[in-house]
Amino acid sequence: MNPVAFGGRLVMLGFGSIGQGVLPLLLRHLDIPRERITIVTAEPRGREVAAEYGIAFVEQAVTRDNMRDVLVPRLGRGDFLLNLSVDVASVALMRLCQELDVLYLDTVVEPWAGGYTDPALTPSQRSNYAMREEAVALRDMARGGPTSVTAHGANPGLVSHFVKQALLDIARDTGAPVAAPPPASDRGAWAAIAEGLGIKAIHIAERDTQVAAHPKRPGEFVNTWSVDGFVGEGCQPAELGWGTHEKALPPDGHRHGFGCDAAIYLMRPGASTRVRTWTPLAGPFHGFLITHNESISLADYYTLRDAGGAVRYRPTVHYAYHPCDDAVLSIHELAGRNWELQPEKRLMTDEIVSGMDELGVLLLGHAKGAYWYGSRLTIDQARRLVPHNNATSLQVTAAVLAGVVWAIENPRRGVVESDEIDHARILEICRPYLGEVVGVYSGWTPLQGRGVLFPEELDRDDPWQFRNIRVA
Ligand code: NAD
Repeated sequence: MNPVAFGGRLVMLGFGSIGQGVLPLLLRHLDIPRERITIVTAEPRGREVAAEYGIAFVEQAVTRDNMRDVLVPRLGRGDFLLNLSVDVASVALMRLCQELDVLYLDTVVEPWAGGYTDPALTPSQRSNYAMREEAVALRDMARGGPTSVTAHGANPGLVSHFVKQALLDIARDTGAPVAAPPPASDRGAWAAIAEGLGIKAIHIAERDTQVAAHPKRPGEFVNTWSVDGFVGEGCQPAELGWGTHEKALPPDGHRHGFGCDAAIYLMRPGASTRVRTWTPLAGPFHGFLITHNESISLADYYTLRDAGGAVRYRPTVHYAYHPCDDAVLSIHELAGRNWELQPEKRLMTDEIVSGMDELGVLLLGHAKGAYWYGSRLTIDQARRLVPHNNATSLQVTAAVLAGVVWAIENPRRGVVESDEIDHARILEICRPYLGEVVGVYSGWTPLQGRGVLFPEELDRDDPWQFRNIRVA
């Protein structure tokens, strides 16, 4: 890709695993003088990486009270705010960027510190559903304003583009080819493709097999990306886009009673909710149903209504995440501590010795059964491709780069979600950084091998009922 010219200043908020991993990519693919980039972050972590690239580093936590004082002097018309922090409210930053005429991108709709686990809020109020509703409510105010890309990392983000490519592949392979893919703005046309193919459920199916030289110690939470980010979302209620083929709401399932109504939540944390899923290399496995923005945005995007407004079609959509083995042990220990975070945190970077992140989307219920489309990126490939990355972060940082480039190329789109962005352009930018990108069909269903050792209540008429997929 030829470097993309950017004439403004760029402020990167937060400089953890994603911030440090994306900096070399931005410098490689954006035509921007280094002195126009500033990092604003809460801790010294990453100072030496900023120094290595000659980038200004400001150690300053952003809070409700100081947000304007810290950011307004550094941002003006035509600049870019790249939010890769935790604990800073995305919606507050998006409002500020509309006011200042500044481009914006984040990878998650983040609340202010403590928002994921505030016991004063109801589970619905601390759900991703509620946070997404707040972000997309800015659409009207932002129409025609500076582009503000909400939740565009790997997932949420890249996986929305994988879903579109997977739909086109399945259409081609089942004899229902789509002559010209509709524009991303035509959500009805994309939803009609999914409905026509008979897609009942979509999993974001991820298996991370990265291993460090030394194992997790007692009292330590270990992960391949933000420990705070993962624990925060893992303690939110489990959430899933709720499809029209589902016969019954789960016993602990609740509707929110406001907003788009595309998703439900379960009255329990995602980090203690498991689902059956499948990826090509791992085969069948149990993943955590961690709440994610894309479970809701995809379900909303792929919704069709009849003339009277009643919902006619929608797939069930959720995350099915098997993090690296040490993170699974960390979650087990965290649950035993009644969700009180361990005293030590470790983000695995240089100590990783092997493994890969197999991250993709699994489309279920069509004529060929199951189709997984995604990226297999090993730690060795990631290190060869871009410094300061592991396999997990590079899938995210490549998507952040692509979102930033898209926003620069499309600067007056207001608030946009991943599903509303041209998937072909994003995949073109990301592909060199995703390792092997593959689509694989499978005869897997969640009914395989079930009810053998013990009786189970299953819906054998429809394998794709959430009731069959959930681990009881
Ligand atoms: P990290 O924990 O490694 O780093 C977080 C950074 O935010 C740190 O530099 C920290 O100092 C900074 N920070 C914390 N509080 C701050 C404040 N008040 N003001 C300014 N900076 C502050 O996290 P990470 O792995 O780099 O992830 C960053 C964000 O990206 C998280 O919100 C995470 O959930 C999200 N993420 C999204 C995806 C995706 O695929 N969509 C994947 C990974 C991470």
